[in-house]
Amino acid sequence: MAPSPSIFASMSKVRLSPSRVNDFNNCPQLYKYRAIDQLPEKISLDAERGTLVHSILHDLFDSPAAERTFLKAVELLPEIWSKQQEEKPELAALIPNSKEWSDRVYALLETYFELEQPQSFEATFREIHVELDLRDDVYLHGYVDRLDVAPSGEVRIVDYKTGKAPKPGWEDKALFQLRIYALVYWRTQGVIPKLLQLIYLGDGQILKNSPSESDLRAAENALMRVADDIIQATETNTWRPKPSRLCDWCSFKDICPAFKG
Ligand code: SF4
Repeated sequence: MAPSPSIFASMSKVRLSPSRVNDFNNCPQLYKYRAIDQLPEKISLDAERGTLVHSILHDLFDSPAAERTFLKAVELLPEIWSKQQEEKPELAALIPNSKEWSDRVYALLETYFELEQPQSFEATFREIHVELDLRDDVYLHGYVDRLDVAPSGEVRIVDYKTGKAPKPGWEDKALFQLRIYALVYWRTQGVIPKLLQLIYLGDGQILKNSPSESDLRAAENALMRVADDIIQATETNTWRPKPSRLCDWCSFKDICPAFKG
């Protein structure tokens, strides 16, 4: 199959992020639609709710420690939600019951306050962009929800999830995203983060892990393999659809070769 000139033009360097790696591993065709064609997608209310909760938890740490309460978080909601709707005016029509929507957000925030006491620590960095040239032809980056540096210098990387914790046996897959951030931190700062923490507000679980050097080297090797696979797919312009349960939520099902005809 002939390579696509437009794909080559945009792929002088492979740009990897945890989301794009996940896309490619889940379905190379999905990766192409998102990362290369950059096609628009349907609005996902779960994703919008996640964005709202993330923004509230981000802004909460602007307040002095003593004021970081559940009530403060609830107070932040209307303004942040208005801004989000201004950016996506079509959102309002998708939410017929705004009380139900707000109640769900309150429940997620309530769960957050059961799991952490934001009055008791400082968030050193929030929504921090981390990046690294993994190889001459591979750029790696991502946004870390929270990166806390303790007075002792120990580093904790935290990510909020509005869904539920993974089932037993799937923890490593979930932790891969944070290992990527830990790898970038290690390679750029020379320190391996002490703790990785996934906070699941959907069911009140916290998944914790202390990464070892070999964990991060394994993550690095896995990233290299994905990068090589993406380069090969690009050079041959071959993007294999990989049907799964994800197809039911995929914005591109109507144009996907796995479903056309
Ligand atoms: S519909 Fe399924 S197979 Fe097709 S691109 Fe989406 S996830 Fe991949």
